[in-house]
Amino acid sequence: MSKTKRILIFEDEEVLAGILEQYLSQAGYAVDTLADGTHAVETILGTAPDLVVLDLMLPGKDGLTICRELRAKSEVPIIMETARVEEIDRLLGLEIGADDYLCKPFSPRELVARVKAILRRSAMRDEQGGHHVAHVLELDEESWRATVDGQPVDFTRREIQLLRVLHRRPGRVFSRSQLMDLAFSEDVILTDRTIDSHIKNIRQKVRACAGDWDPIRSVYGVGYAYEA
Ligand code: CA
Repeated sequence: MSKTKRILIFEDEEVLAGILEQYLSQAGYAVDTLADGTHAVETILGTAPDLVVLDLMLPGKDGLTICRELRAKSEVPIIMETARVEEIDRLLGLEIGADDYLCKPFSPRELVARVKAILRRSAMRDEQGGHHVAHVLELDEESWRATVDGQPVDFTRREIQLLRVLHRRPGRVFSRSQLMDLAFSEDVILTDRTIDSHIKNIRQKVRACAGDWDPIRSVYGVGYAYEA
């Protein structure tokens, strides 16, 4: 058995904090909850939790500042809670480096699912440092050609346009509207579904060359990121 993962929650709404702690404990995690952000960075660096759940609006120091200060020193996974959907778009634009975002009100089960997904991903990353094969996707922006593990892939022009926005900034989460603006600026009629269907096709073509490798991470309710 792997050792119990520790989660640190920063949430100043007492009832919500209690519910989140209860659900995450039941899911097998060791959970601590703090309501004040003043010493959050020091506490996180000092206690080295496996994952941090961070509310955006906190007394003492807000989640945005905490996230930024923390990212200069730590790669600990962060799930950011916000009160409004528009805040997520703003935070994405600021590139604060959170791993996932949840908009209140969210179900505690949803949080547990996100926590599991993120911890699974970081466990896979640790393993890949060892003996797994690293896949490579290369894009030649001038010739509009791409290769996966050295094999040419027949992406459409649209797919390349989308892929290069994601590929230039590995790890950064883009919302669908940001992707539409950045990748398809010349087009007028596009919907969120357009982005989703291009992503689906890109994934299929990558998989045809690289087995189960998926270089694009879906960020539920938000958008996509390229995982180097
Ligand atoms: Ca709050």
